[in-house]
Amino acid sequence: MYKECELGSNKTYKEVIDNFLPNLEGFYKSPSAYRVEPFRIFGNLYYVGDKKVCSHLIDTGDGLILFDTGYRNASHLLLQSIYDLGFDPHDIKLIINSHGHFDHFGAGNEFRSLYGAKIAMSKVDTDLLREDPRRALMHLSPAPNDDICWPDIEIEDGDILTVGNTSIRCVLAPGHTMGTMAFFFDAVDGKETKKVGYLGGVGFLSVYKDYCREYGLPLNKTELLKDSIEKIRPEKVDIFLGNHPYHNCTLEKRQWMIDHPGENPFINPNGWDIFLNALEARRQDFERLGY
Ligand SMILES: [Zn+2]
Ligand SMILES: [Zn+2]
Repeated sequence: MYKECELGSNKTYKEVIDNFLPNLEGFYKSPSAYRVEPFRIFGNLYYVGDKKVCSHLIDTGDGLILFDTGYRNASHLLLQSIYDLGFDPHDIKLIINSHGHFDHFGAGNEFRSLYGAKIAMSKVDTDLLREDPRRALMHLSPAPNDDICWPDIEIEDGDILTVGNTSIRCVLAPGHTMGTMAFFFDAVDGKETKKVGYLGGVGFLSVYKDYCREYGLPLNKTELLKDSIEKIRPEKVDIFLGNHPYHNCTLEKRQWMIDHPGENPFINPNGWDIFLNALEARRQDFERLGY
């Protein structure tokens, strides 16, 4: 069976931030090199992201829901992926920004203006960006002059967003950002239903105390993350989605599907627990190192 992946190494904040833009140089120059052929994860749930950031599409039977629009410079890849699956971006009824960082809401404004989709994001992150827009990290974006993608719908803990046959339960799970949300919904394939879980912010860049000092955020993010992990752990999840591909080994699982026809490593009732254990282990490293 497919083995779930580990979550990164423990560099200092300075090492991470100094390498942030150099690591993105190739992607900013030529996003097409980071293209991923879109594919069906299960039933009405599809991957339409690239190698850098995950985007997921749900066909609700009465319009589409899109989770995250990735980096602004890769919006053409996202569009191409939606078309390649046979969908029409005009049918996107709802875009959900997983959290308030530029690499997840990058194409949102363009999609709203072209196709009229409504955009949802957590109220907590929206308020924090209103207070200090630097927190969207636009200065690290390939389009630093873009507007922040302000939502039409500000989601609160426990809200349920419904389009067509799909209801998405939104659970506030601070850690990566203060307003990061986890999302839970059913994916359907004929008569078969799978429970899907998505933690919409996983990386540790924005957990470092140095980062939180720089952006005027609480310094107890590791404690908040511990509470969030405990809060979402009891959820029954058959398929957990990645926020960036390396969070759930999206690309490796896809390759496995191609190499092993009939097998689907995205479906793993233990995957959610394994993922949260890896997150908790990394969190404990941060605590131990005083990050
Ligand atoms: Zn982020
Ligand atoms: Zn991100």
